[in-house]
Amino acid sequence: MATQKTLGESLREHGVTRRGFLKFCAATASMMALPPTMTSAIAAALDKARRPSVIWLSFQECTGCTESLTRSHSPTVENLILDIISLDYHHTLQAASGDAAEEARLAAMKENWGSYLVVVDGSLPGPGSNMGYSTIAGHSNLDILKETVEGAAAVVAVGTCAAFGGLPRAYPNPTGAVAVQDIITNKPIINVSGCPPIPTVITGVLAQYLTFGTLPEMDDYKRPLAFFGQSIHDRCYRRPFYDKGLFAETFDDEGAKAGWCLYRLGCKGPSTYNACATMRWNAGTSWPVESGHPCLGCSEPDFWDAGGFYQALSVPTANATHTLAVAGVAGAVVGGVAAAVAKKQQRHAVADREPVTIEQLEQRL
Ligand code: SF4
Ligand code: SF4
Repeated sequence: MATQKTLGESLREHGVTRRGFLKFCAATASMMALPPTMTSAIAAALDKARRPSVIWLSFQECTGCTESLTRSHSPTVENLILDIISLDYHHTLQAASGDAAEEARLAAMKENWGSYLVVVDGSLPGPGSNMGYSTIAGHSNLDILKETVEGAAAVVAVGTCAAFGGLPRAYPNPTGAVAVQDIITNKPIINVSGCPPIPTVITGVLAQYLTFGTLPEMDDYKRPLAFFGQSIHDRCYRRPFYDKGLFAETFDDEGAKAGWCLYRLGCKGPSTYNACATMRWNAGTSWPVESGHPCLGCSEPDFWDAGGFYQALSVPTANATHTLAVAGVAGAVVGGVAAAVAKKQQRHAVADREPVTIEQLEQRL
């Protein structure tokens, strides 16, 4: 159950040192794209914050979102559950089952009425479809969601299924799947899309809510701008190749081996907004484009039905059209020299872990 202790008290009880706490706050500032000077303000706010009760509901999902959360590394999921939030209900992670589990949910709601957060992963069979497609304790997903959200401060829809319907909503959508925002219209909603979402983005959103006690600034899809404000393409380390018109044509050609742009192999990076290129996955080890696979666009609505995964975007962005035209000419003129230089710059980009703009590239040449 939720405790009245502040987060600072709770952390000290668990033996977290001041230095460790500040390190966490610095990481949180970085996750929120705030300047390092904000670290002390975050520390002061978090020190006084009370652990919010979180009720996590899982509907039509594959457990990938929860898997992703348990791969979170900063803070770790253990920190998150024990020290930062009070995770009072979560099918996969809780020890309780059956009646005891449902009683825990109802008790957490009663005790924290008006202030708890509801996290949802998975879509739900919508009104008008067969409610029996997905039930919990004999109740439809729709009823459980409406009942649980009633006393919530806000709802966090984690994963593309909860945010936009995701895989269950893909054509022909046999269960009539809908997103949380299609049902809940009277509570603030934060969509943390991705299939699965980046674990540090899930925890970062919760930490941001704890720090400021307010909802983050969001885009038109209700996604927090701190994490979804830039496209994959904007921050991709392969971007210099794109700008120079150097594209892999197959997964094993010379361009692919040299790390050229994956646009023609179906990369949806130009039309996809998420923080993969900067936060990366598996404790910051890598991300799909770095491991040689095009971005599938998994954090955008209806990405399953948006054309073939391995077909190039049929209508490039305005920016891309212009760049491709320029890049085509540049590629033809500079030819092999550009390839060698671009390869060198790719090594720079990977080594530096920085986004590289074409201007910066030119200065390095
Ligand atoms: S968003 Fe993806 S990972 Fe999450 S539940 Fe849906 S299909 Fe699974
Ligand atoms: S199209 Fe894809 S691989 Fe190429 S630069 Fe953009 S995001 Fe990177």
